[in-house]
Amino acid sequence: MERKVRVRFAPSPTGPLHMGGVRTALFNYLFARKHGGDFLLRIEDTDQNRFVPGAEEYIIESLKWCGLVPDEGVGFGGDLGPYRQSERKPMYKKYADFLIENGFAYYAFDTAEELDELRKTAEAQKEVFSYDLHTRVGLKNSLTLSPEEVTARLQSGESYVIRFKMPENRDIVEEDLIRGRVSFNTNQLDDKVLFKSDGMPTYHLANVVDDHLMQITHVIRGEEWLSSMPLHILLYESLGIAENRPRFSHLPLILKPEGKGKLSKRDGDKMGFPVFPLLWKDPASGESYRGYREDGYFPEAFINMLAFLGWSPGTEQEFFSMDELIESFDLSRVVKSGARFDPEKAKWFNRHYLQQKSPAELAGLFLPVLKEKGIDPDLQQLERIVGMIQERCEFVNDIWAQAHFFFQAPESYDEKTIQKKWKPDTNEKLEAISAFFETIGTWTAENIKEQFSAFMTEKEWGFGVVMVPVRLALVGESSGPDLFEICELIGKAETIGRIKTACEKIKL
Ligand code: GLU
Repeated sequence: MERKVRVRFAPSPTGPLHMGGVRTALFNYLFARKHGGDFLLRIEDTDQNRFVPGAEEYIIESLKWCGLVPDEGVGFGGDLGPYRQSERKPMYKKYADFLIENGFAYYAFDTAEELDELRKTAEAQKEVFSYDLHTRVGLKNSLTLSPEEVTARLQSGESYVIRFKMPENRDIVEEDLIRGRVSFNTNQLDDKVLFKSDGMPTYHLANVVDDHLMQITHVIRGEEWLSSMPLHILLYESLGIAENRPRFSHLPLILKPEGKGKLSKRDGDKMGFPVFPLLWKDPASGESYRGYREDGYFPEAFINMLAFLGWSPGTEQEFFSMDELIESFDLSRVVKSGARFDPEKAKWFNRHYLQQKSPAELAGLFLPVLKEKGIDPDLQQLERIVGMIQERCEFVNDIWAQAHFFFQAPESYDEKTIQKKWKPDTNEKLEAISAFFETIGTWTAENIKEQFSAFMTEKEWGFGVVMVPVRLALVGESSGPDLFEICELIGKAETIGRIKTACEKIKL
């Protein structure tokens, strides 16, 4: 019988989730949904030294914001929990013991200082120390010490680790679903620590045991874990649980915008774009890192952009809703080579999704910005304003730059426009216009335009001569939406008031 597809996103709460992590979650999610399977969230917090408060909450909030809601996991329930590894601590010991009893692993008693010393000596000779099949024979472990001594050390409570005994000269060959055939020779691999005397497993053991117990069918994770794959495969084999072990897929790296090197968390600050889904305040340093959400990106734009980092549909289509992504997603269309991140493309996606929104929805999103400025607009009017300037915006926050004059009189006037368009008789003309505006009864854009045109014809003034100064008086700049719409929306008194103020302030 076909097994139900089950995949997991297994971040370590060592800091905020990088956008690369979100992409891993996304590809797992798409794969699960596409195959009618389950998407799990497992928190891999075995390394207590690297635990960062708030990181787990950040991960969960990020997934929710992106719409990548797990079916099971920390904060989401499920039958195969707990899903936080620190809460599974008692489960791992028996697997470590099994490996020892069957000769696949051994106790090692070398102290951190001793190993450090060996590392330094190797470094001085321009070599790298590795605890492996060559060096293990000369070190302090249950392969070299007598059984009595090992028992004595264990009983005395001496601290130890359990290391995997990497077999000699075996080729571990695997069909990675993205990379194709990948092969490793065990002579190149070291004896990784699997378990520590504080009772905690390390990442490798916990990861394999949990993928087994949580019935994971496919491991989809970042390229940086490819080198751990042979060890994981050997662990499944040694533990006698290889039969239903997951298939592996390793996603390509996300590269810096210039195309070289892995995108790092510092790049965002240096180059002015977010690297994290949400704003992150580092609890230790107090430093803040910007987030896509707070920078005004829509989650659908962020997701659409991420989907294209390493995957492509093989068609011309560029805009994909989550449902369309699920429909089209295929691991075989994920590339092996690094995917270059382009911040401009992220903005471009955002612009697209902003244009798709109705003015009513955008007005709702913009309202908090106004409220923060102490402005409480009429909602219908706000919708009209937003509809007028939507086309000029990439982000919700751009709305203010495009529409501030609907809510506030200009504080200054564009100097260049004054120099070009403000003539000696402009003040006089504007005064006549404001007197004329007083006489207009029905203050709608349409009627103002009609009456004003008649007035202009009668005066024999060209539109070109007065329109820019009027706009300058109302807006402060020479560009913006339709002038008569502005007049209607700010109201008669305000229109006249602004023209008068401009005449007082701008004197040639
Ligand atoms: N805990 C690992 C991480 O932080 C998970 C790697 C894996 O998916 O196996 O990325």
